[in-house]
Amino acid sequence: MFNCWPGSGLYLTFLCRSAVYGGVHRMNPQLRRVTLKALLERARAFRTRVDFDSGEFRKLAEGQYPEALFITCSDSRVIPAMITAARPGEIFELRNAGNIVPPYGRPGASGEAATIEYALEVLGVQDIVVCGHSHCGAMGALKSGDDLSVLPGVDAWLRIARPELTSVLRTAPDDPSLPEVSQGNVVNQLAALRSYPVVRQRLDSGRLRLHGWYYEVDTGFVYELGDDGDFRVHAA
Ligand SMILES: [Zn+2]
Repeated sequence: MFNCWPGSGLYLTFLCRSAVYGGVHRMNPQLRRVTLKALLERARAFRTRVDFDSGEFRKLAEGQYPEALFITCSDSRVIPAMITAARPGEIFELRNAGNIVPPYGRPGASGEAATIEYALEVLGVQDIVVCGHSHCGAMGALKSGDDLSVLPGVDAWLRIARPELTSVLRTAPDDPSLPEVSQGNVVNQLAALRSYPVVRQRLDSGRLRLHGWYYEVDTGFVYELGDDGDFRVHAA
């Protein structure tokens, strides 16, 4: 029960799956979990690792002017600032299981809707990146059709993404890295973004660009969605 995809390098993800979609699992016991003590020690030493004398951090108190809204999965292996070499204040992040954007107008409070609205209306962000990733537990759960009744919150959340993914889920090969499913999901979430009036208005007036990325956790390659609908790696 408690094994997961071998070699995933996974410590703190909330979902993991077996190599053959045999079920939703929590951890690979062979992978060592970082201790909170170690994280706390790193946090206590944070100021020693950063050059506060440069004035960069003092300036952050004056406000934030991020370049992009970066929507990605909560997965611990995906670190937007590391992938993009972003400095504090440069990217505004929205993270959840499966980098899902609920369609506009869904009843109830939505952290996603609030974050999108704030990024565009208040921060004036002009680019939104939706970044899926390989070996995604959320996409794996959708692909496997696992019984998620013990995880009702996850089940309800993933149901948002399932209908538009149906054809991809049916045809995608049983590849543990799930490129077809994760990339198809990115395309669908970009479409969901367009359902927000605040997004559509800015797209129509040329004040906003949408980007689809797919990050491969075991190689570090970033695939970009092109106008032809394919994801490709571009030379650095
Ligand atoms: Zn994921």
